[in-house]
Amino acid sequence: MGNLELNLIIIGSALILSGLSVFLFYKNKLGKNIMLAVVSASLSIAITVVALISILLEPKITLKGSYKMEIPVFGEYTESGYSATLGNDDVTDAVTVSGKVDTSVVGKYNITYSYKNGKKVYKATRTVNVTDKVAPEIKLNGKNKIIVSDMKFYKESGAAATDNYDGELTENIKITKKKINDEKYNIIYTVTDLSGNKSTLIREIEIKDIVAPVITLKGKSTIYINVGGKYTEQGATAKDDMDGDVTDKLKISGSVNTAILGTYIRSYSVTDSCGNKKTVTRRVVVRVPEDPTKNRICLTFDDGPSNVTITVLDILKKNNVKATFFICNYDKSKLPIIKRMINEGHAIGIHGYSHDYATIYKSETAFMNNINKLHDKLYKDTGYDSKIMRFPGGSSNTVSNRYSSGIMKKLKVRVTNEGWRYFDWNVSSGDASGSLSSNAIYKNTINGLKKKRTNVVLMHDLGTKKTTAGALQKIIDYANDNSYSFWAIDDSIPQIVH
Ligand code: ZN
Repeated sequence: MGNLELNLIIIGSALILSGLSVFLFYKNKLGKNIMLAVVSASLSIAITVVALISILLEPKITLKGSYKMEIPVFGEYTESGYSATLGNDDVTDAVTVSGKVDTSVVGKYNITYSYKNGKKVYKATRTVNVTDKVAPEIKLNGKNKIIVSDMKFYKESGAAATDNYDGELTENIKITKKKINDEKYNIIYTVTDLSGNKSTLIREIEIKDIVAPVITLKGKSTIYINVGGKYTEQGATAKDDMDGDVTDKLKISGSVNTAILGTYIRSYSVTDSCGNKKTVTRRVVVRVPEDPTKNRICLTFDDGPSNVTITVLDILKKNNVKATFFICNYDKSKLPIIKRMINEGHAIGIHGYSHDYATIYKSETAFMNNINKLHDKLYKDTGYDSKIMRFPGGSSNTVSNRYSSGIMKKLKVRVTNEGWRYFDWNVSSGDASGSLSSNAIYKNTINGLKKKRTNVVLMHDLGTKKTTAGALQKIIDYANDNSYSFWAIDDSIPQIVH
């Protein structure tokens, strides 16, 4: 209790006492207690006067600003000032200030302002509370939103927490899992600093059946093997986003018969523990190798049968030469010519029911229908099951891009996968362009021939190409004089492609 309060109590008590005295004085009507009342009242007045003088002589210390301050930790404390009076005198200079505030440490600090008057010390106190009211910061390791196919695949990657005052609080993080519904979970990260400030962060987990494993083939996706060679499985690896390495679950199927020409499909399948299945395939092409001991010529006639086919067949027969005809659709009257080709040992390949680029290169389906339609017709008419074909315009044509961009790349895979061997040419007679003389066709052809390889010669079997038939005898004579031999395309002929 301060001196001021004490003095005020004294004054109050004295006033009550003097009032009581006046009351007694009145009640006794100037009776026998009169002396006691007079003494009592006088004493009260005297005490009051002394107390009032005491108040007037009491020093008064006044603080500027708040007596109770709050400062955030690491903030700045500045003395906001004070003053002191004694009676009418300013005695501020005589005040001493003690106490210190360390704003880097949370806690309560007292600053004491003292004034010494004789033996008595008068004091005022300011309380400074340095507080930490900033909550810790949580950072998730990994993503805020995670998709897993099953909650059992969720791997907790944790979080880190730091506080502005306490520093590292990672070990204080509490992690709880809350199911929202069958498709959603929340992982809740909570941390409280030593001052009681709490932070919460949520990671959302979505349950979705999504990602199939990834299969990587060892070796190439298309493998070429010479007929009679050996196929060695190089295997594959499989990885799943949830299950990890699932190579041991891989199932490989599809047989390869290297004794028989064709394209074989090896299939690599794997299913992850959530039922997501993945399949990749490898094409194994069993092909005929080039035979450098032979100087082979395969004469090929496109677009027939026609009005000149009989002339061509007669020349071939006379010379005992076997050739190959890549035919288009034919009407009934031409069927005997087709049968003659077969009977005389020539090969028949499929060029296409229609030769119209806009129609056949419109789509993969349109193209496949176009070759299958003619194949089936030929088979029905003659029993001849053709396995070879030639793309109208050749496999390297660019005209097809006008009707379906990039279709040739797809078609080459498609026809191969469906069991066809397609043939382009490596010698062109040039008879496709305009009406070339027989001599020019002959020259083009013999200039293109090379020894120790298979020469596939492009010629045409059209009513308008009479000069081709005219060049044929000279070409055969040249070949015979230069140790070439003629072959119809069969399984022993390597696939000549652009
Ligand atoms: Zn053609």
